[in-house]
Amino acid sequence: MARCLDKRVAVVGGGYAGLAAAVELVANGIKVDVFEASRTLGGRARSIEIAGMTVDNGSHILLGAYRETLRLMRQVGAPETSLQRHPLHIEIPNELRLIAPRLPSPFHLGWALLAAQGLSWTEKFAAMRFMRHQHHFHLDTDITVSTLLAEQPEKLRRTLWEPLCLAALNTPVATASAQIFLNVLRDSLAADRADSDLLLPAQPLSALFPEPAARFIEARGGRVFAGTRIASLTQHEGKFRLDDESIYDQVILAVAPQHLSKLILGLPELAPVVKQVEKFEWKSIVTCYLSYPETVCLPFPMVASGNVWFFDLGTMRGHHGLMAAVLSCPETRPDSAYFSSKLTRIIPNLPLHRWHRVITEKRATFACTPNLSRPTTQTALPGLWLAGDYVAGDYPATLEGAVRSGVAAARLIIK
Ligand SMILES: Cc1cc2nc3c(=O)[nH]c(=O)nc-3n(C[C@H](O)[C@H](O)[C@H](O)COP(=O)(O)OP(=O)(O)OC[C@H]3O[C@@H](n4cnc5c(N)ncnc54)[C@H](O)[C@@H]3O)c2cc1C
Repeated sequence: MARCLDKRVAVVGGGYAGLAAAVELVANGIKVDVFEASRTLGGRARSIEIAGMTVDNGSHILLGAYRETLRLMRQVGAPETSLQRHPLHIEIPNELRLIAPRLPSPFHLGWALLAAQGLSWTEKFAAMRFMRHQHHFHLDTDITVSTLLAEQPEKLRRTLWEPLCLAALNTPVATASAQIFLNVLRDSLAADRADSDLLLPAQPLSALFPEPAARFIEARGGRVFAGTRIASLTQHEGKFRLDDESIYDQVILAVAPQHLSKLILGLPELAPVVKQVEKFEWKSIVTCYLSYPETVCLPFPMVASGNVWFFDLGTMRGHHGLMAAVLSCPETRPDSAYFSSKLTRIIPNLPLHRWHRVITEKRATFACTPNLSRPTTQTALPGLWLAGDYVAGDYPATLEGAVRSGVAAARLIIK
């Protein structure tokens, strides 16, 4: 049956960006249909099943600074308990231990640095000077993070700034954008104390926001079609036609950039956008789930060993003995032995793991390089909008970047 829905908006893509856009639209009384190719909502931040447990395609962390994500989670009724909130805590055994106390900003950061274990006084003061000397966290000309950090002591770079850059931008310091890194520091470490809090998902990623968002949308007359891939988008009498059947006044394309080109092939006005995203480079993230006896646990739910972050899904989700090891931008294909050897540096008498599963997200994020030209929300075609973590904005490819872009697209429609 043809779906001809006058005055309706379509959102293509049911990741965090698309669902954020749809929530903002229905909350403002605008009817919306969301089309998601996969049966599971969430895109690159989604739930998967392993060994009878619901886990994530890759462990994610959120920050207190994710204001729009947190606002929308509250709006759709996601329970407060879906995130475990911890004051900033960086734990790299034998290297660095930095914990922010519950003091008002900037004392929380000052105290955290002064009391940090593993840094000399010279390194502590160098870190404080670095934060204090950022002029409004703005650079007239973008440079790489390694150039930005050139005068920082080697140990400080290696144990503090480089892991933070890799975790936030998923791009090594040698090629990462200093301006985007500074934007992240400005809104987290240098902002209110709560903005630097670590928020660890106590729920699988699809349950965190996408599923409550879908319920919210449907309760307000919107529709969410999971398992529905849109093959083509064309113009039809000043409106937009999705595949051969559905006609909409406005469309938000909230797919990842690599899926965009195929969809907008029939729209010559969008050729410059295709060219822009074709220049993107991609960075992968590998997650390895390792299952140990139930007594195996970490000293804090998130601990690093070298370049690998370990998440204890026992304390986070009640899956005792299950560890998620996350490695950004690996140079080779790591196997389970690589991850378990890293874990033995945190837990010396680690028993053998019972099973493991490695998940590689090859196109986890775009490489966040200096002066990267990113498409804007508004396209050359009135009524067609873009949303997604790659759309021009202050942030690297993150949940908050995705959510903000979705909200921005929705607000342009509402306006
Ligand atoms: C392993 C991993 C770890 C990460 N860690 C973090 C982290 O710790 N913190 C953080 O903030 N961010 C993290 N990120 C980044 C974050 O997940 C992404 O920035 C965010 O999920 C992107 O959301 P999006 O909606 O822009 O795009 P996507 O999530 O890619 O959503 C696009 C959706 O469009 C759908 N789609 C594509 N084509 C079509 C079509 N033709 N028709 C219908 N649907 C279509 C796709 O199936 C997908 O669901 C991580 C990413 C990965 C992969």
